[in-house]
Amino acid sequence: MTPSSLRPFIFALCAFAAAFASPCRAQSHTDASTRTAAPDRRIAVTIDDLPWQRIAKTPPEALVARHAALLAQLREGGAPVIGFVNEDKLEVDGVVRPERVAMLQAWLDAGYALGNHTYGHVDLHEVGIPAYEDAILRGERALRPMLAARGETPRWFRHPYLRAGRTPDDKAAVATFLAEHGYRIAPVTVDNGEWVWAFAYERVLDERAETPERAELLERLRLGYVPYMLNKIDYYERQSQALLGYNLPHVLLLHANALNGDAYAALIRGIERRGYRFVTLEEAMRDPAYAREDGYRGRYGPSWLHRWAMAEKKPKEFYDGEPTVPRWVLDLAGVDSE
Ligand SMILES: [Zn+2]
Repeated sequence: MTPSSLRPFIFALCAFAAAFASPCRAQSHTDASTRTAAPDRRIAVTIDDLPWQRIAKTPPEALVARHAALLAQLREGGAPVIGFVNEDKLEVDGVVRPERVAMLQAWLDAGYALGNHTYGHVDLHEVGIPAYEDAILRGERALRPMLAARGETPRWFRHPYLRAGRTPDDKAAVATFLAEHGYRIAPVTVDNGEWVWAFAYERVLDERAETPERAELLERLRLGYVPYMLNKIDYYERQSQALLGYNLPHVLLLHANALNGDAYAALIRGIERRGYRFVTLEEAMRDPAYAREDGYRGRYGPSWLHRWAMAEKKPKEFYDGEPTVPRWVLDLAGVDSE
């Protein structure tokens, strides 16, 4: 073997696979810690906006098949998953559709957990606390009996848009209300623009004629999505190291959409190649970091890692370097910004 003659080949291979293969990444820099002791790499997968992200915009004849494709991908992925439900998405013209309730039953039958994401996907910062609490309770009218039939109760809540209150009092009021109804808040550490990739993917899927160009564009989106997400995970791993001094068990946010119906298993394999193993939300949240103070007071919904950093008054530069969704994907999605 002649390592020097192999080097250009290995370099090319690494460049090609940079987004997919952790061994290549480890060789590309000299951080001793990556060679001596592998950091703890655990992550929990959470999937929002069940039964389907943009259900009203999805062609009704495609919905069942796309949902089945997502469940097939989840099965192939093999990771524990919790899905968060918007119960308004079970209805058409105010009437609950049995085929949509059946989609949720299929999640439970497949062994996945379900949580509450409010009825109507409401923004706490817009509607205020009384309306928000109403949306939480309306958001469990199907969920609570479905879980009761299995001897369970709703245990997890995810804020729509990750908007959790703009004052300590508001945050505490909602958290207390949730606790009184048996819920824990499901934070997110790996916040990301997956939803933009998914909007782009579904627009191409639904608005373009079935041509080779359309197939190529869909493939380009799938192939771009996975490394984009892996770069996000790398970024939040660095943020965790910088803030906490260790890599905490992460919580990843995804949505129920056609992109994951085609690319979820590839994403899971990519995360595994980064050295991660998949854990439940409950296991991830045993890490004491999740008890830290949420120091965010703004109108949006950043990663909990950044909320904790804000509580510590980290300088602006602390947040630098976060990967962004490429312009061509924003354009395809028809959105101005993430
Ligand atoms: Zn949502």
